[in-house]
Amino acid sequence: MPNFKCTKCGYLFESDNDPLKCPDCGLKGSIIEVPIESEEAELIKDKQIIIQTFNKFKKDYLKSVKDISQEAGIPSANVLKVMMSFDDFVQSSDRDSSGDLLFTTKEKFRENATFTKKLFGAFKNRID
Ligand SMILES: [Zn+2]
Repeated sequence: MPNFKCTKCGYLFESDNDPLKCPDCGLKGSIIEVPIESEEAELIKDKQIIIQTFNKFKKDYLKSVKDISQEAGIPSANVLKVMMSFDDFVQSSDRDSSGDLLFTTKEKFRENATFTKKLFGAFKNRID
């Protein structure tokens, strides 16, 4: 369980000693200790920011962790944790040009899934 947080980038991590710098952004002297119970609260906060970020995207609704991280201003490690911890998000079977995994919100997926995919989904449900 993470017990430290970077005050600059928000990265949450675990350490037995007092860390001197952030393992993610490398900023020195920016680390604060966080109560272990607050990890869930931090993730919920990050989740809300990520959903707001997705709501800004129009056509291009599938995003890599790197893209989400940049747009939302949240470290990649935290973005991935949010994607894996909440069922508000879905992982696409497609990958981007660099081979990175793509994610979207369930809501965006329903809005944007192409007609073909929806049709195929309906057909698949019928034969299952
Ligand atoms: Zn940092």
